[in-house]
Amino acid sequence: MSETLTVALMDALPFAILLVDHGEKIVQANPVARVMFGEALAGRPFVTVLRQPAIGEALEAALRQGQPGRVRLRLAAPGREVSALATVAPMPPDSDLRMPRGGAMVSIEDVTAVEEAEAIRRDFVANVSHELRTPLTALMGFIETLRGAAREDPAARDRFLSIMEREASRMNRLVGDLLSLSRVEAEERRRPTAELDLSAVLKGAMQTLQPLAQAQGASLSRMGEEGRLPVQGDPDQLTQVFANLIENAIKYGGGAVEVVVSRIAHEPVLRGPGLKVEVIDHGEGIDEIHLPRLTERFYRVDTHRSREQGGTGLGLAIVKHIVARHRGRLKIESEKGKGARFSVFLPLG
Ligand code: ADP
Repeated sequence: MSETLTVALMDALPFAILLVDHGEKIVQANPVARVMFGEALAGRPFVTVLRQPAIGEALEAALRQGQPGRVRLRLAAPGREVSALATVAPMPPDSDLRMPRGGAMVSIEDVTAVEEAEAIRRDFVANVSHELRTPLTALMGFIETLRGAAREDPAARDRFLSIMEREASRMNRLVGDLLSLSRVEAEERRRPTAELDLSAVLKGAMQTLQPLAQAQGASLSRMGEEGRLPVQGDPDQLTQVFANLIENAIKYGGGAVEVVVSRIAHEPVLRGPGLKVEVIDHGEGIDEIHLPRLTERFYRVDTHRSREQGGTGLGLAIVKHIVARHRGRLKIESEKGKGARFSVFLPLG
């Protein structure tokens, strides 16, 4: 391979590459390396660019003993810390690059995103296990009590069985929400193609939640645009979106819950005309510090209250993914003490 081709290849690679000569001086750096460590790298001693003992030792082993190595590094980048994986490979003494007596190639890959994704996955598994274990522990405790102390006590037995039923249905809801979430995440890139009437979807969701509203002393009313509202979407998923938002408004807000539909001529995210559905409550609202994290999986403002209400902490995460699948947008506005407004923007079908 000619020297020009080797250099062109190095320049095209998506990670940083530094060629270091026998005297530990940098001979060549590709564009990614220059972004990472600054311009004017050629001619500088390697140690002045990367002052980390582990990579220094790996470089020495490559240059002196011809031994390849891999090391993990933490690098300071503007405004963040980068996690990197460095590979040090000895160059053959007869390489076509201008490096007498061999040298080494150091490649540095930014693996921050991979590590972050892995941390998110770990947290998720830990959260799921914890959420499943809580009702499971309760169930096991009551089974033991029913076998022992409460064996001959019909009143206690009935009470315990109804608690067990509640805990079992909590687990069932959690598993259902987890399955929903993984399904919408998997198909998020495929926009649904069916033509539907959003009015009918809203009517269905409101009818389903009417009994809950009544039980909690809340009123449920629909305002704004009436009639057929054509939208391209998945009717079950959109029903899930509005059922979730209305259920939250009843559970956490209470009082008068309003569903307001309006047509909008232009919404930048939709790149055209669309529909806006606002689910508004006048409850105690949400402190603004929580707003950016509300759609994260298992994030709750008040975990105890959410559990008491039978919440799984996954509702808004599911809503966000479904809305994204429909090329729409979810906007959350609230002020502590002044209720909450969850707005869903959808492109007109
Ligand atoms: P959950 O199953 O806990 O209801 P969600 O993802 O649906 O999970 O909601 C996350 C959290 O957001 C809730 O636990 C609650 O703290 C808060 N929240 C959602 N909707 C409202 C609302 N209308 N008013 C106040 N807080 C809300």
